[in-house]
Amino acid sequence: MVEAVADIGLIGLAVMGQNLILNMNDHGFTVCAYNRTTSKVDSFLENEAKGTNIVGAHSVEELCAKLKRPRKVVLLVKAGSAVDAFIDQLLPFMEEGDIIIDGGNSHYPDSIRRCEELEKKGILFVGSGVSGGEEGARYGPSLMPGGHPAAWEHIKPIFQATAAKVDGEPCCDWVGGTGAGHYVKMVHNGIEYGDMQLICEVYQIMKEGLDLTHDEMAEVFTEWNKGELDSYLIEITRDILKVKDTDGKPLVEKIRDTAGQKGTGKWTGIDSLDRGIPVTLIGEAVYARCLSSLKDERTRASKILAGPTNKKYTGDKKEFIAQLGQALYAAKIVSYAQGFMLMRQAAKDNNWDLNNAGIALMWRGGCIIRSAFLGKIKDAYTTNPELENLLFDPFFQEATAKAQDAWRNVIAQAIALGIPTPALSTALNFYDGLRHEMLPANLLQAQRDYFGAHTYERLDAPGKWVHTNWTGRG
Ligand code: NAP
Repeated sequence: MVEAVADIGLIGLAVMGQNLILNMNDHGFTVCAYNRTTSKVDSFLENEAKGTNIVGAHSVEELCAKLKRPRKVVLLVKAGSAVDAFIDQLLPFMEEGDIIIDGGNSHYPDSIRRCEELEKKGILFVGSGVSGGEEGARYGPSLMPGGHPAAWEHIKPIFQATAAKVDGEPCCDWVGGTGAGHYVKMVHNGIEYGDMQLICEVYQIMKEGLDLTHDEMAEVFTEWNKGELDSYLIEITRDILKVKDTDGKPLVEKIRDTAGQKGTGKWTGIDSLDRGIPVTLIGEAVYARCLSSLKDERTRASKILAGPTNKKYTGDKKEFIAQLGQALYAAKIVSYAQGFMLMRQAAKDNNWDLNNAGIALMWRGGCIIRSAFLGKIKDAYTTNPELENLLFDPFFQEATAKAQDAWRNVIAQAIALGIPTPALSTALNFYDGLRHEMLPANLLQAQRDYFGAHTYERLDAPGKWVHTNWTGRG
């Protein structure tokens, strides 16, 4: 009889799975590894896992036999049908109370479906966001588990030990019910799209409008990384800008300017449209990637479409760079405010009790969007868990108030110079829209009533919907 020696099983020995197993092993857990192509199990045990307590299995049956009860199996395989296929394979060898955790980038409706289906069979399903790439998986990822709440007490010690730590606190907590883990991971990825786009826009302004060299730009990012913009993405941008190709020229300029995407940003954008929440910055970040992909069309357009004659900033560069930093910071605040607005609505729609301070802490370390700034978001939601909007928190209210003049000037200058700033600009437009008690939607309602008799609500008679004969014609 096979002895149940392992604390947890993991299926999927690609980059994420292998590193997460090694990480769990470092924290004293015995992990049993399995992979569809079983030769990878042998190769992993003979190489990367050599000298560790990691054990292997050559079938799903053997994997389940080697697991202590309740069995806990993490799936780190390609999202989609592979997850369903493994769940089907596991079921005959599992019993009531066993736990299946999907750590891949699954779309949250799939996690809701899996959780509900498995609950009927007595199996506890958890969909967990895992962020931080290869290095995060190896040395401490951000983990965002959600699903069947009864699973949490069993996986908590392993998950929290394995996760990244910030000031001793693990970047992992229970996110919420069915689908919540993958939902929060999806929004995280959307925010990542936004953060990256914002950085790319300030890079283009510095390069094109200010004529800074790559070393000068790297210096700006070095300085920014010491202050309120301190974050992983600023740090890697600094590093990237310093790298030279064999001819001594900046390597980044040799890269074809068409961005790839795997779909999580798009999912966030679509979800925001479905819920009616204006997550404009992530939307623009996704569209910016789409526009970048139209390289041939852009090349043709660059030769025929007119731009401004003045393409260079002529004022004080040092002062403008400081303003750029302020614009980047303010736009980033708006992006996170929008992300939390979306999660708030999704929580209402799905009956999730999302812990916003906990989410900020989970993102504070281990993942791609990790930053000092997330500590401030955590503080805001810790002080007021019912905070209606992140921008209403006194710290962020003051930060945007302080940055707004610089932010406006940066966008005005970029527009004058013909440099695209879709994310920086949409953030300011959202900010200005939000702070307007009166928007022109009154006129819009009148137009709708004019051509479609859609009726409108009078300000002086709330709840009273009326129609006007706008032309006076009968
Ligand atoms: P991956 O390239 O997404 O997937 C490879 C793994 O999936 C292999 O173990 C492969 O098995 C298995 N697999 C693929 N198709 C399968 C099928 N039809 N049936 C059974 N198994 C199948 O691996 P990854 O990059 O390590 O990512 C794993 C998961 O984590 C994915 O969902 C990914 O989106 C998510 N994720 C990745 C990152 C990252 O930075 N890479 C970060 C966060 C989350 P074989 O060896 O047999 O082909």
